[in-house]
Amino acid sequence: MNFKILTLFPELFPGPLNHSIIGAALRKKIFSVDPVNIRDFATNKAKSVDSSPYGGGAGMILKPDVLQKAYDFCLKRFDKKPKTIYLSPSGCKLNHDKLLEINKYENVVIICGKYEGIDSRFITHNKIEEVSLGDYVLSGGEIASFILIDACVRLIPEVLGNKNSLVSESFQNHLLEYPQFTKPRVWQNLEVPEILLNGNHEKVSEWKLKTSIEVTKRKRPDLFKIYKKKLKERK
Ligand code: SAH
Repeated sequence: MNFKILTLFPELFPGPLNHSIIGAALRKKIFSVDPVNIRDFATNKAKSVDSSPYGGGAGMILKPDVLQKAYDFCLKRFDKKPKTIYLSPSGCKLNHDKLLEINKYENVVIICGKYEGIDSRFITHNKIEEVSLGDYVLSGGEIASFILIDACVRLIPEVLGNKNSLVSESFQNHLLEYPQFTKPRVWQNLEVPEILLNGNHEKVSEWKLKTSIEVTKRKRPDLFKIYKKKLKERK
């Protein structure tokens, strides 16, 4: 997968994406992150990228003409049509299903807003999908883009060492993961469930599924509802 990031802060990349499992995938060229500096596409001498909002209000808005130039530059660099996402509090909330959808694309353009956001005509004109990380406001899209890319890249089959790692993870099959334990067997008087110690793989699998269902029902009744619906559909 190739990610092009429209940003005012290209120096932030690859940042945290250069570490651990995702960093290894970056070095193996399983994915690439290529920041594009919006400021390089400013047309005036002062290299300004923003202006105050029509109708008044706080802050500055990124200009659509500058964004368009930067975006056209990105589009020209891809032979296949990319998926384009504007990270925005007004978008639909990022979830596992959305990540699976994005994951199907070889090329992805991510637009990071700053200040008070961007001129909405840019979104309308290019029919860009808006994706939010949650119901709160970040000061820029860059941090959000790290999250989106990290979560997306770990879904690429060869990224996690063990191909089974993804199978039981939270949100696969609309369930949360069962609780995990490691050594020591007893810690602070809390014991690891006996069933996980006896080496009976069938019983362990049954326990994992049963516990996943219980945990999801208790912690995320909204997700449990979807699980039940999907189960019914499959039957
Ligand atoms: N004035 C805007 C917020 C702008 S915050 C509003 O009230 O909606 C500046 C930038 O941070 C946005 O353009 C967006 O790219 C990013 N951002 C802020 N919150 C976000 C969120 N919850 N999810 C994704 N991106 C977000």
